[in-house]
Amino acid sequence: MSASPAPKYIIEHMEEDDDQTRTLPPWVLLEYGQMLKVASPSSTVGFTSLSASTHASISTQLDTVVSQTSSSSSKPPAKFFASKESILTYLASASPPIPISKVCLLDPKAPKALCPEDGQAGKFEFFLFGGILGDDPPRDRTGELRKLGFEGRHLRDVQMTTDTALHVTKLVVEDQIPLEDIKYVDYPTITFNPRESVEMPFRYVADEKGEPILPEGMRKLLESDLNRTFEF
Ligand code: SAM
Repeated sequence: MSASPAPKYIIEHMEEDDDQTRTLPPWVLLEYGQMLKVASPSSTVGFTSLSASTHASISTQLDTVVSQTSSSSSKPPAKFFASKESILTYLASASPPIPISKVCLLDPKAPKALCPEDGQAGKFEFFLFGGILGDDPPRDRTGELRKLGFEGRHLRDVQMTTDTALHVTKLVVEDQIPLEDIKYVDYPTITFNPRESVEMPFRYVADEKGEPILPEGMRKLLESDLNRTFEF
């Protein structure tokens, strides 16, 4: 099987975003920046359905978050693009138009699991994710993309954050590692001090020490959110 071109990962931004949103919510920025870091340098990550003001500012925002959270030994981030168009308009207005058969929707409710063959030449060129903060229990907001007719693949039955879903997809389709050979951490408890911790309702990729891989800066954000929650 010939080598496949580097895939494109597309995140359809589905969280609140209007022209008054001067900057993306901090958790979105950290997750989106993490995606540029876990994707391979030869691949491309795109964000669609952005408001005009976010579209104008996301490049600077992501450059800042990636440079602030990368060490000198980090691999270069993936290339990225931003679009105000929704995913369907983006695909139809590409030149030549991109058939939706080339797009794989990462969908927790898809009938088939993602496998390494899905990344081989001639299969999918685009992998689409919902840019959604997970709910607990999940509200199936990915269903809004499923209705558009994409072929779907699941990453097994535990909800992942979007950056983790992209990371796992990259491991499967680019590094050709089967889903069942990847090490995960489910529902980790992030402990800040003897009195404060938070349980995350997601599956994460495990690092070499068996710890969940969270976006750089996410622990600090979670801790500040925790403190804010308790400020009366
Ligand atoms: N609560 C949303 C739902 O139930 O549809 C899931 C949001 S999840 C945090 C964000 C995105 O990551 C999803 O839209 C999907 O593209 C991807 N994703 C997360 N977990 C997945 C899984 N187990 N299988 C396939 N895709 C997944």
